[in-house]
Amino acid sequence: MASATPTRYQFVWIALAVGPMSAVHIALVAIPFVEFTLWSVLLMLAVSRFIGLGVTAGFHRCLTHHSFTMPRWFRFLLIAAGCAALQKGPLWWVSQHRLHHKHSDTLDDPHSPVIKNFFHAHLGWLFTVNPALPDAHLIRDLTKYPELVWLERLWVLPGVLLACACYAILGWGGVIYGYCLTVVFVLHVTFAVNSVAHLFGRKRFDTGDSSRNNAALGILALGEGWHNNHHRAPHSARHGFAWYEYDETYLFIRVLAWFGLAWAVKLPTAAGQAGETSQVSPLTKETGELPEPVSSSVT
Ligand SMILES: [Zn+2]
Ligand SMILES: [Zn+2]
Repeated sequence: MASATPTRYQFVWIALAVGPMSAVHIALVAIPFVEFTLWSVLLMLAVSRFIGLGVTAGFHRCLTHHSFTMPRWFRFLLIAAGCAALQKGPLWWVSQHRLHHKHSDTLDDPHSPVIKNFFHAHLGWLFTVNPALPDAHLIRDLTKYPELVWLERLWVLPGVLLACACYAILGWGGVIYGYCLTVVFVLHVTFAVNSVAHLFGRKRFDTGDSSRNNAALGILALGEGWHNNHHRAPHSARHGFAWYEYDETYLFIRVLAWFGLAWAVKLPTAAGQAGETSQVSPLTKETGELPEPVSSSVT
């Protein structure tokens, strides 16, 4: 699906879709008028992990790539946390990311900085793709779960609830710093994986695209910045292959597994890490509820 200039109808949908993420940017004008304290920092750290891991472990590694499996009730909670990051609904997110892997750095990639430009890959693509209707074929393995379809329709609600919780904890400082500023930070770190991590960094594997391992994003994006590794082995729950490639999301998945909340955790084979193949093998038997992705080319 190539990006195209939106029609007037699409423009309205795009405005509605990017409205919440625009609102948290605009809210930052209140920063000079709201006190910043140590509690603000602690709340920002907590919220950044809450919504960030919802996106990285929930939207990305679980829903998009089936790199591990969770109980449905816990998956619902984690995906709801990801919705509070205001990156639109989980099914739309998955469909766009599967398109990215299927057509990486070609004309049909929704956000390639190589084919278009840095700004397009970072933000501009959100104003050119159809934000209303996920490609049904790309997400048919997920639409059979009513709770995911429900979150897709009400994706703004978890963010509103989290902003209210931040207000209850720290007042307007909680809303402006704990929620709005943190969401803006997580938004741009996520966008940077699409833009920066396809332009700047080390290219360990020849993956047929422009993906890079970017150390700064590896840390800031909770492990998602080891993006060349990820394009090498998309189904792997672990993106940081080497000991020095800090992968906070994988550590989170390990903790979940320890508590019995994650299983069928997939890792790259030794051959995959050595550059001989991109296959991954499951650590444990595939016993989860989620089927394999819709086709081998959609990873
Ligand atoms: Zn990529
Ligand atoms: Zn991916």
